[in-house]
Amino acid sequence: MTLSYDETVAVQTEPSASIIGIDVGIANFITTSDGKQYGTFNGKLRERQKRDREKRRRKAKLRSCLEKKGTPKEKLPSTTSVTEQRLMRHVKQSINRAVNLCFKEHEGCQLAYEQLSVASMRHKACAMNAYMRASNLAHIPDQITWNATKRGVQATRVKSAYSSQECHVCHYVDRKNRPNQQTFCCRVCSHTAHADINASQNIASRLSDVELRSCQNRQEVKALLLRRHEQWKQKCSLVVVQAPVQLGLWASSRASTDVG
Ligand SMILES: [Zn+2]
Repeated sequence: MTLSYDETVAVQTEPSASIIGIDVGIANFITTSDGKQYGTFNGKLRERQKRDREKRRRKAKLRSCLEKKGTPKEKLPSTTSVTEQRLMRHVKQSINRAVNLCFKEHEGCQLAYEQLSVASMRHKACAMNAYMRASNLAHIPDQITWNATKRGVQATRVKSAYSSQECHVCHYVDRKNRPNQQTFCCRVCSHTAHADINASQNIASRLSDVELRSCQNRQEVKALLLRRHEQWKQKCSLVVVQAPVQLGLWASSRASTDVG
């Protein structure tokens, strides 16, 4: 017998609670803006997926051979794979475990996580087959939503556009800011960090970013970030110009007090 019931859990997070940004990915299912990582698809799961894919490829080959020879359809090997379904289940389970642990270790915080778009998923999951990315990467934000609702935690979806290419320090956006999958190294200000941590920090600051939230599409987000980068550059040049002047003022005021 299955018994189901509805329960409304009120949000218990304080409005002033510290903000944790969550970046979603395959190499690390979850990376938080305070530098923690939970779960991975690499390692055992990836090995299993590779083996399973090989097996299915061989099966498909055999199937087409038999088809050519005129074997009746019902005697052909099936194309659905039991091991694939089992693997999918295991991936989901490890995602659930990762999300659970993340919530446990961030009690009393409010969360910001990615509004995953199909476009960014395609970019993030280029090495994976379509089925895996469609059903599992998308399972991570779903699981975050479910956990937040269940536990009464304030969790907000924010726009993910360019969050992995934007420099957290100077807002410069460039695909080349990532020399490899793991590393973020800004080509302008040379801010260096783990790529997922840089992204999760961007996501955290997007929580209260009204201007970014009102952007209608990726182009508008990019234009906004570019404007911010220009502002950053101006601020930097002002600092460089003003520093000696300020020092001079400080020195002369000191001198005058000495005299006084
Ligand atoms: Zn930078």
